[in-house]
Amino acid sequence: MPKVMNHQLGREMDYPYEAAYPDRQFAFVFNINRCIACQTCTMACKSTWTYGDGQEFMWWNNVETKPYGGYPQHWDSKLLSMLEEKNPEGQTWDEKGTFEGKTIFETGVDPDRDQRVLGYLPGDEEWQAPNVFEEVARGAKGLAGPANGVSLPEHGTWFFYLQRLCNHCSHPACLAACPRQAIYKREEDGIVLIDQERCRGYRKCVEACPYKKSLYRPNTNTSEKCIACYPRIEGKDSEIDAGIPIETRCMSACVGKIRLQSLVQMERDGSWKNDPDNPIYYMVHEERVALPLYPQFGTSPNGFYIPPRWVPRSYLDQMFGPGVDEAIERYVYPSRRLLAVLALFRASRQIIFRFEVENGKKVGESEVTLPSGESKTLEIFNDKAIGYDAKGNVAVSITIEEPVHVRPKEHYNSI
Ligand code: SF4
Ligand code: SF4
Ligand code: SF4
Repeated sequence: MPKVMNHQLGREMDYPYEAAYPDRQFAFVFNINRCIACQTCTMACKSTWTYGDGQEFMWWNNVETKPYGGYPQHWDSKLLSMLEEKNPEGQTWDEKGTFEGKTIFETGVDPDRDQRVLGYLPGDEEWQAPNVFEEVARGAKGLAGPANGVSLPEHGTWFFYLQRLCNHCSHPACLAACPRQAIYKREEDGIVLIDQERCRGYRKCVEACPYKKSLYRPNTNTSEKCIACYPRIEGKDSEIDAGIPIETRCMSACVGKIRLQSLVQMERDGSWKNDPDNPIYYMVHEERVALPLYPQFGTSPNGFYIPPRWVPRSYLDQMFGPGVDEAIERYVYPSRRLLAVLALFRASRQIIFRFEVENGKKVGESEVTLPSGESKTLEIFNDKAIGYDAKGNVAVSITIEEPVHVRPKEHYNSI
């Protein structure tokens, strides 16, 4: 099997195809701390792409409650157990952040079944309930909650919402597993698509995708998945200006303003080109405040998450790999530049390719307790974040302090 460099694992790994990377890659950051699980994103996707007959189980975007929820049920804990069974030596990371365990491409899968990737096919019952265990917490039982209440850095009773869609991976397992070569990754933006003409519904992609984001639609006998709203990325669905890429439906509809997306520039070796003014690059590589979901699976997902700050670290370490403590610390005690970028989340319909920060005056300060227990004073400045679209035009200009508008007296009770 060819070797490819997996930058998230810090080492080479086996992959069924030679490495090939796009010029620019669709990527996003979700801030878990802000999500209210309203499911507006879920319904925005469904009402755009997956309504109608046979689409009952097509949840390309879903928001599940961790640790118990999942669509399909227990998708992650099942695969984690399978990997541990295949590699009893341990799915661990070394001190430098290199993964020492085995990915889904490296576990010696079953050649008799023509299985190239470790995975499993969920049963019908596992696909039945998209939001099972919603808001079910782990920790103290009963309504009274823990006797000593909850306090940071970690809550004794906890849950959090995990927002999920296809990660448009750099080493997609769905693509690797398809015997028809019906799945491809676009050169121009790295979006992973299933050619509906070539697909014969063998469900190898459903079995192989570790995130279970390739879904089988029985009435067409094909598999489907998130298409990254590609007409919007191409700027063909723009009400603003033809050719300007705009946010996908699930991102654009997000009520909690937890989502920010962009296209990042890629090097030929699959790493990201140094581009610290791109907001996604900045958060992932400069601030390291956003981490990939289950990087140990090996697919190099291009969705990144700011981890929830109240959740036990051992759970988050397993979910996001090394760097959780550092990411949470940077989130609770943000630099001025990071605070400005956090203000750009969902602030414009145009995708932001570049940002700038203009310094403003100090408007406040507060005491912050870091995860380490250390206390620090956080100074807040009314800086201005300016986001630029694909053509270099200002898409949004927003200050940290929201302006206050007082409604004129004669309009108090009108809408
Ligand atoms: S729309 Fe935003 S806030 Fe609401 S569930 Fe989706 S990701 Fe969370
Ligand atoms: S998340 Fe799954 S379906 Fe999407 S590209 Fe990665 S392996 Fe394929
Ligand atoms: S990017 Fe578009 S197709 Fe993909 S989950 Fe979001 S709304 Fe659905």
